[in-house]
Formats: sequence, C-alpha cells, structure tokens
Amino acid sequence: MGWSIGFDEHWKRDIGYGVPAYCDHPDCKEKIDRGLSYVCADEEPRGGDGCGLYFCPKHLGYCTDEFTSCCERCRDGKEPFEPKSEHPEWIAWKATDPSWAKWRKAEAKKKAKALPPIAAAISARPSRTQRTALRDSSYQQAPVLRNHRRFEEF
Ligand SMILES: [Zn+2]
Ligand SMILES: [Zn+2]
Repeated sequence: MGWSIGFDEHWKRDIGYGVPAYCDHPDCKEKIDRGLSYVCADEEPRGGDGCGLYFCPKHLGYCTDEFTSCCERCRDGKEPFEPKSEHPEWIAWKATDPSWAKWRKAEAKKKAKALPPIAAAISARPSRTQRTALRDSSYQQAPVLRNHRRFEEF
C-alpha cells in the first residue's frame, strides 16, 4: 500500500496519493496525484534507477528490460525532467487547511531564520500595489507616522 501524504527528500516535494499534482512531463497539464500508480518506475520516493517523478498514464507509457512503466527520459537513460511546480489546489490546501497549521508555523520560522535581518526587512516591505494603495490613502499625509513604522519594521 502507498500512503496518503509523505515527503520525498530527493525532490523536496510532498508525495502520496493525497497530493494532487501535474504530470511532470513538460508539455503536459494532466492532473494526477503523487501516488504509487503515477510514479516513474514504481519508485516512491526516488531510490533506484527511476527518476521518482510522477506522470500521467500517457507519459508513463514506456517500458524497458528493467522497468515495466517509466517516463521517456528513464527509457532513454537520460537525466530526469525538471520537476513541475506544485498544483494550485495543493498550494491552496497547504495554505489554508487546519491540518497544515503546524507546518505553516514551522515554515515561517525557517524563513525568518534563513534570511539575514536586512533581507527579512526587505521582504517585509509592502509590495508595489500595496505601496500605491498607501500613497493614495491618507497614510501618505502622515509622514512622521510612516517613518516611525518603517523604523519598527527594522
Ligand atoms: Zn523517469
Ligand atoms: Zn502527462
């Protein structure tokens, strides 16, 4: 049996049949999940000779003496495809579902630690649209207050 959600240390991605994903073939937008039925060369997580990426049935439709089903890169003995970015559904799920609250906290901590203080302050700056909104609001008419707040952010 597979498992619903796990983590692939090699590709640094969530895996398992509970994870909606795009087929990892560059020309394909097919929605699959990262369960055992979609993994290249039956390897989950990446271990032996398969690439450990996930493909729709069409792009997993190759076989060699070694593999019963694999992607075209593994069939040709080439370097793996670039792994696709996460499916929006999965990103939204992780960002909002209560079961991921702990993970979100840990990620925020990691990020805060990873950035040197200046970089953290820059990334905490309002975005261009936010700045435009601020400029257009009464906020702009209170420069002292704004500078004060900037200072606090550092
Ligand atoms: Zn492969
Ligand atoms: Zn595909």
